Amino acid sequence: MEKKLDKQVAIITGASSGIGAECAKQFAYSGATVVINYPRASSKDKTDAIVNEITSNGGVAISYQCDVSKEDEVIKMFADVTAQFGTVDILVNNAGLQKDAKLTEMSLDDWNMVISINLTGQFLCAREAIKEFLRRGDNGKSKSIGKIICMSSVHEKIPWAGHANYAASKGGIMMLMKTMAQEFASKKIRVNSIAPGAIETPINHNAWDTKTHLEDLLKLIPQKRVGMPDDIAKAALWLASDDSDYVNGATLFVDGGMTLYPGFEDNG
Ligand code: NAD
Repeated sequence: MEKKLDKQVAIITGASSGIGAECAKQFAYSGATVVINYPRASSKDKTDAIVNEITSNGGVAISYQCDVSKEDEVIKMFADVTAQFGTVDILVNNAGLQKDAKLTEMSLDDWNMVISINLTGQFLCAREAIKEFLRRGDNGKSKSIGKIICMSSVHEKIPWAGHANYAASKGGIMMLMKTMAQEFASKKIRVNSIAPGAIETPINHNAWDTKTHLEDLLKLIPQKRVGMPDDIAKAALWLASDDSDYVNGATLFVDGGMTLYPGFEDNG
């Protein structure tokens, strides 16, 4: 694989599974030193298995436990990574979860949990990343002094009944991303989002686990296939590399056409 991220240091949050794990592998095989973040001790074995897979294939990776919704833990993660590897060049703000309920039955705890991990977590990590990019300045590794990729969702655009906390978090990510891009473009920092459609990962297992669920899901996808983590990791790699140097403040929808109003496919 071409080393498009050669010697750049990338923190990928929530990378012990799904999209984050695939980003970690593709970034490492493109030359990046990868920090695979996971939230709690119970995910350590799974994360270490990804580290082992990468290192046995010649890549450089470590695992790092940190709950992205905890300010002190995020500050410590960036400080530790900078101490170990000299800096951070790329952040993939990927960690996220769902706590679904009808609005009238949604507890404040479930609302707060989703907003604090999906949205506040992205703010905390981006803030520490941008501080480090500005402190370090140009190190000659990329046209930008730093790149941030925010994992959003088609639900930054499509309302989602029964998932108000999740949809609100992704709508928030859209404006957080654009505002950060506007604020720091002149400093040679690029901030973009990816909005995945339905991707086969643990977060949405019950959307594709049975034949009936899969058939229902495919009605929403004009391309008639569920996405794979690889579809998203390739887009993330492009956004992290200089190939996308003139792309800033954009949301890249990687959704098999889910946002194309499939209900109108057959003349509405
Ligand atoms: P996933 O469940 O495999 O990955 C989510 C990861 O986030 C997990 O590894 C989990 O441990 C981690 N995480 C949860 N809370 C955390 C915390 N407090 N601190 C650090 N890490 C934490 O599912 P995925 O599909 O790979 O999700 C990755 C991202 O993609 C999420 O932001 C999700 O909203 C987004 N996304 C996924 C889909 C899809 O269809 N799979 C669609 C749109 C958006």
